[in-house]
Amino acid sequence: MYMGHFAVALGARRWLRPLPLAWLLFAGIEPDLLDVFGSLVPSLGVGDASHSFPGIIYAAIAVAALTALIFRRTGLALGAGLLVLSHVAVDYLTSWLPLWHGGPHVGLHLYATPRADFVLETGFIVLSLALYARSPDLRRPARAGLMAMAVLMIGLQAIWNFGMAGG
Ligand SMILES: [Zn+2]
Repeated sequence: MYMGHFAVALGARRWLRPLPLAWLLFAGIEPDLLDVFGSLVPSLGVGDASHSFPGIIYAAIAVAALTALIFRRTGLALGAGLLVLSHVAVDYLTSWLPLWHGGPHVGLHLYATPRADFVLETGFIVLSLALYARSPDLRRPARAGLMAMAVLMIGLQAIWNFGMAGG
């Protein structure tokens, strides 16, 4: 999944407001960051551990522990850990991933059908921004900004699904 991860993190803000948005986004894409880090430093041997068991469990526990240490609230720590797990859960919709190293691959692999992926991720974006918009602490300008955010995210998703396919 591409923009859908950011959407999930934005939607989760409704329940995890004390956490900075940057922290929510970090937790939401941690497995992909680990992937990038692993390819930059191959000696770490990250491989497919970022998106398979038991690696994602370790990552969720690590992010939850870090959140507990920094923000000192158990509920927030749990939420951040769940965001890490949500990443791989929704990746199963769009990708074809090994359950564990050397294990069977599962997933719907919607990336192979860009239109279906676009519809799914746009749904995530609309739903999550609607949740975000219902946060009681949002002021009017922020609500207007959400519309621009939706357009930007759906545009980036469209480029991902349709713009790069021909290149
Ligand atoms: Zn991923």
